[in-house]
Amino acid sequence: MLMQARLETVDCPCCESDGHRHWASENGYAAVKCTGCGTVYIRERPRAEDISAAARDGVHPTEDGTLDQRLRRQGWKVPFYAGIVRRFFDGEKDLSWLDVGAGNGEFVEAVQRALPDAKASGIDPMEVKVARAQQRGVPITTQTLEEVTGSYDVISIINVFSHVPDFQHFGGLIRARLKPGGSLFIETGNGGDLPSRADYPGELLLPDHLTFSGIEQMKQTLGRLGFGRIEHFSRRTDHPLWAVKQIVKSILKGKPKLVLPWTRKFRTVFYRAYLDG
Ligand SMILES: [Zn+2]
Repeated sequence: MLMQARLETVDCPCCESDGHRHWASENGYAAVKCTGCGTVYIRERPRAEDISAAARDGVHPTEDGTLDQRLRRQGWKVPFYAGIVRRFFDGEKDLSWLDVGAGNGEFVEAVQRALPDAKASGIDPMEVKVARAQQRGVPITTQTLEEVTGSYDVISIINVFSHVPDFQHFGGLIRARLKPGGSLFIETGNGGDLPSRADYPGELLLPDHLTFSGIEQMKQTLGRLGFGRIEHFSRRTDHPLWAVKQIVKSILKGKPKLVLPWTRKFRTVFYRAYLDG
């Protein structure tokens, strides 16, 4: 089914410049690189109201039909993220923690595992995922961030940043729900630091992903939101098992190609941004 997506034009979500050059095309959308700050983003993109409907349903209109993002729970993420949480928060007691865009709940489970005395919960717009997480006893609801009334020591957004149409607005909602001295915890790729599309592993998932930040761009974005101190940790994703999977995928697609481990500039980056107490 061909769906006609209505578009709007936006300037750089980080520095608000309109200077840009073409970076990549996918699914009928173009990602551009800001010539001011380096952020990669979709300039001609689905309109905000269509984006929020898509986030709720997990389906995005594209030229080729639809791009389905209703992914299933991935159990390996629980021990993986538990390790990441310990790296940043080990020894911190009784944290109240809200995970925004909690999906199937793996990250909430990871916080529970890493910090047994933390009070961790999550919200996600996708009803199918929330229902499944609740069946497993993971405390996730379909509340929106606007509807959240509590105040938290930590609010996390794990691979959510790229999906957010207006991060200054969204970040403001988060800031208002953090206690003084609280932290925003983010995972997102370093797409804005990559010289070319070829450095990005796999699909860009346009237009589901709207913005690809680099490390300095993220610090600038968080600084504008009033976060003072920012710690970050970059992690490679091009390990040998990943390379083998890419080779197998390319063979299955009928376009075999050699993929080498430890050669890509792509990183997944974790940020802990502290709200001034
Ligand atoms: Zn920019």
